[in-house]
Amino acid sequence: MTKNDKYDLLNEFICSMPKIELHLHLEGAFTMETLYRLIHKYGGDPTIRSLEDIKQKFNYDKFEDFIRTWYWKNNFFRTGDDFELSTYETLVNLKQQNIVYIEAFFSPWDFEKNGIPMDEITESVIRGCEHAEQDTGIQWKLIADLNRDHGPEAALKHIEKIAAYKEQGVIGIGLGGNESLHPAAQYMDVFREAKALGLRRVAHAGEAAGAESVSSAIIDLNAERIGHGVRAIDNPDLMNLLKRSQIPIEVCITSNVMTGAVTSVNEHPVKQFLQQGLKVTINTDDPTMFNCTLNDEYSLLLGVFRCSFQDIKKVCYNALESSFLDHVERIQFEKIFNEAWDQVPEDLIS
Ligand SMILES: [Zn+2]
Repeated sequence: MTKNDKYDLLNEFICSMPKIELHLHLEGAFTMETLYRLIHKYGGDPTIRSLEDIKQKFNYDKFEDFIRTWYWKNNFFRTGDDFELSTYETLVNLKQQNIVYIEAFFSPWDFEKNGIPMDEITESVIRGCEHAEQDTGIQWKLIADLNRDHGPEAALKHIEKIAAYKEQGVIGIGLGGNESLHPAAQYMDVFREAKALGLRRVAHAGEAAGAESVSSAIIDLNAERIGHGVRAIDNPDLMNLLKRSQIPIEVCITSNVMTGAVTSVNEHPVKQFLQQGLKVTINTDDPTMFNCTLNDEYSLLLGVFRCSFQDIKKVCYNALESSFLDHVERIQFEKIFNEAWDQVPEDLIS
């Protein structure tokens, strides 16, 4: 077998292997077709005449372009039905990559200005997930993303409301928004209260702010997973802490390039994270907005970072171990993973 043959076979396996994604925002993972239909439902946009035009719009020169485009597309999600249909089509689309389970963020408070109450969005998103599970078998849990920009007082009110949906699949909270303007420490009470309410807790950190933001998410918030964590690489003590504690990092390589958190794919510290024994998981963040897929992200490990197939296997299983699945669910997915990996010939892995 030539090196190229082996590379092609490994890439093929990456596309077909069962995968778990832990850091994906539903508002950034809609399908282009869904958005195109919604744009026309609400009277169209003169700049969008085809799906290709949307694709063009999702090319950004700078972070401000991305943010502007993010709000532009939010404008076309106006009813519970829009969210339900979009969620359904998103999950069906993800299943085509053999993504078998997701823990997806959704931001029910970001659309209140579009006139949709938080409970209507939440219930619609749940319905969309349930429908997709019935049709494709994909399994899911939801994490409500608290926007730092809304402030800790609003967040305290929000977690009480979200805890009411715990039995329906909304299992936790995430902390998103502008991390340099609103440090994690402001949210200590929110995370303490969320824990008391039985919610799981994750935080974006070290993406738009430095290593101290990651440390704060761990020490002040007791976050159970870190979203991005890129800047942890700047602080050896923090790297040690992450290694010792095995707090999972939700790595999103393409997203970090697109938002400028790293200057290029090659500059991303994912390889160092792996080499230094951190619990790395691979994710897409906002796949449609960043024009990437989970398959692409795993392929980067192979093609750009020259990771071994053992590393890729480790990262796959890390997602399973870092998930908020209960024991019985975890065993079920472990079986699915084992069956797939047992079929990979030894000489392909080594
Ligand atoms: Zn994110």
